[in-house]
Amino acid sequence: MIVSKFGGSSVADAEQIKKVRSILESDERRMVAVVSAPGKRNREDEKITDLLYKCNALVQKGQSCRPVFNEISKRFIQIAQKLKIDDVKLSEKLDDIRCMIDAGRGADYAASRGEYLSALVISEYLGWEFLDAEDAIVINQDSTVNEMTYSRLQEKLEKGKKYVIPGFYGETEQGVLKTFTRGGSDITGAIVSRAVGAELYENWTDVSGIFRADPRVVENAEVIPVISYKEVRELSDLGASVFHEEAIAPVYDAGIPINVRNTNRPDDPGTMIVRDSESDWAIGVSVRGGLSRIRLRKLMLFRKYGMRHALLTMLHIFGIRPCYSLFGIDSIVWFFDSKMANESVCQAMCERLAKEFSLESISVDHGHSILGVVGGSLETSGACLKVLEGLKEHGIETTFINSGSSEASVLIGVREDQSADALKAAYSSLFPRK
Ligand code: ASP
Repeated sequence: MIVSKFGGSSVADAEQIKKVRSILESDERRMVAVVSAPGKRNREDEKITDLLYKCNALVQKGQSCRPVFNEISKRFIQIAQKLKIDDVKLSEKLDDIRCMIDAGRGADYAASRGEYLSALVISEYLGWEFLDAEDAIVINQDSTVNEMTYSRLQEKLEKGKKYVIPGFYGETEQGVLKTFTRGGSDITGAIVSRAVGAELYENWTDVSGIFRADPRVVENAEVIPVISYKEVRELSDLGASVFHEEAIAPVYDAGIPINVRNTNRPDDPGTMIVRDSESDWAIGVSVRGGLSRIRLRKLMLFRKYGMRHALLTMLHIFGIRPCYSLFGIDSIVWFFDSKMANESVCQAMCERLAKEFSLESISVDHGHSILGVVGGSLETSGACLKVLEGLKEHGIETTFINSGSSEASVLIGVREDQSADALKAAYSSLFPRK
């Protein structure tokens, strides 16, 4: 059995949904479809999920969500009419939902309705069963999947029947509706794949797979044919945005392969994400910007047991959670998302840490990026060296190199204003045009 997840762009309007049908009907093994809410139809357009969050924000301010909700209704009604399905029943559902949002059911409820309505419309169009995610997917308070989900899904999904399931949301054990983080329909698809023991989890989107580098920066970047779970997690952590980084966990142990495909070019093979794939060269490069750096120094810093932990606890108090760390004998460097703290918070934090830990020095500066080279055998194959040579040749300054903390990536610090050039230089050194 194949589980096929369709992202927002694949269900953005009636024409896209027709493509979804022809994909699903072209292979009998496609038995379960997991769908997102309609996404953008063009650059200027708004995602249904964003509009739903806006509705909730209006209600929080004491206003009615009606003006924004009307846009949502219009889009769904238009889809239903073009697909020639019952729009009267749908109108009633839309009215009920608007009342619930106006009654203050909250952000998660509001946001989830995009997927709910999308799945309802698509199941009717296909003549497949509708299974509501809130009846099967159990989400813990920390947004992880509750193990109970798997047996619930197995109970609900009858053999031989075909289903459409909304992505992105479920219910807590206490019966409260809850969403995953943004882009979370990928996670739902992975959960369902594991529950049914799928032979393949297809992830249909608007690009022909995962690119070796962001194609908006690197023109003619190639699509990666095969990549391992580990490598794809590294790439998404570094800002490559094709596949939700948390969606690997549910299929990891079962080893279910994931195929990222393009709804608009269904004949393209896309990217296969598999458990075991040994690459002997870099597989891709990505760059994550918007980072600030804390540097602190103290003689014999690590002499005292638990020092790093104590410092980190203090950082957390100021709302800072570092995403990358480097340690020297008497120093620590942490990188964190610049959005986490403004200038005055940074200053207050530096003063407090300097005083409390009698630091020799502490400073925060901004405008950093991290370039990640992902793949296998990065050191021994010479791939890492090639990137460093390429960066030097293009006049890119590097602020650090971190190799060995992960077997699937090497991280290189660069200045944010040079990050696009760094990405281009790294790409052309690793994957020269044939
Ligand atoms: N519709 C949700 C979002 O925009 C979830 C998803 O598309 O996966 O984040």
